[in-house]
Amino acid sequence: MTEIVVFPGIGYECNSYLILDEKTVLIDTGTGSRPVLKQKVEEQIEKIDLIINTHAHLDHVGGNRHFTCEIAIGRLDRVALESGGLYGTGEMFGKNASSKVDRELSEGDKIDCGEIVLEVLHTPGHTPGGICLLSNTGHLFTGDTVFSGGSFGRVDLPGGSAADLGKSLERLKNLDFEFMMPGHTEPVKDGKSHLESAITLFGEYYERA
Ligand SMILES: [Zn+2]
Repeated sequence: MTEIVVFPGIGYECNSYLILDEKTVLIDTGTGSRPVLKQKVEEQIEKIDLIINTHAHLDHVGGNRHFTCEIAIGRLDRVALESGGLYGTGEMFGKNASSKVDRELSEGDKIDCGEIVLEVLHTPGHTPGGICLLSNTGHLFTGDTVFSGGSFGRVDLPGGSAADLGKSLERLKNLDFEFMMPGHTEPVKDGKSHLESAITLFGEYYERA
């Protein structure tokens, strides 16, 4: 039986998503100061096979160190994760983190978990190598590209680009998905309407400037 388990982020922590299938995949791991995530994961499953980080920010990769498994991240965020540079977010959170990357992800790559297959979408803007993951079950894991409630990721950190984020948001409109599974804020059904609201807000912030 396949299942997607949601571990909601509280405060600055990101949401983590555990895909239970033939292969067990954890999407994003929080700042690492949340041992409860490891406990909760272990209540579900003995070991995970793969961590996918949606992008190399401390609040999404800091918990990688609690797990022993392969680690994957978008190709252009690899250096930021391996070096621990994390686009300045380590200093922001007063923490260090780095991970060896086992698998670089590029546009169009498929991650076969068994019944669930994730397709990689390169969605730069929040970070250069940020990715979203589209599943064949209608779930779009958006990292910090777009949030429910009609908000979107900040572009003012090193490596951020408003122009790129605008394009990334636009391309998500054409995808076939129902659920938005964001890096922060609540996962929602009717993800497309949340995306539409985010695009409208983005236009008010950046395109009229
Ligand atoms: Zn981020």
